[in-house]
Amino acid sequence: MEAPNKQLELDMRYIRMAKIWAENSYCERRKVGALIVKDKMIISDGYNGTPSGFENICEDENNVTKPYVLHAEANAITKIARSNNSSDGATMYVTDAPCIECAKLIIQAGIKRLVYSKEYRVEDGINLLKRAGIEVIYLNPDKSDSITD
Ligand SMILES: [Zn+2]
Repeated sequence: MEAPNKQLELDMRYIRMAKIWAENSYCERRKVGALIVKDKMIISDGYNGTPSGFENICEDENNVTKPYVLHAEANAITKIARSNNSSDGATMYVTDAPCIECAKLIIQAGIKRLVYSKEYRVEDGINLLKRAGIEVIYLNPDKSDSITD
């Protein structure tokens, strides 16, 4: 394990990358980015959006998010299913606190740490992750400028 400061510095960098990755999302109501890191390698990434082959529009004519839009976490986890990697023991970095549906996927994917940077009004996803023994860390790079090595 890295020294605490070093780990915090790495976490801060990856969460900033997840924020940048969220810019890929074509969803208008909310842009979420996720990265899965294992042994200091990014093994997967995701942002919220429609499934492969569908139109790149998340909202219907009433500006309501379509029911088949995948969350960033689900996209990152399912991308691993199509690769030779394993998310077992990995850390997930996600811009927004996961919902309960994604929390279930995160648990089953064997992810052991979760770092997020934005609270969500409903906390049942975070609570479920904690109940499963996953280390959950709230880290907002926009609110912290005091990281020293
Ligand atoms: Zn979700």
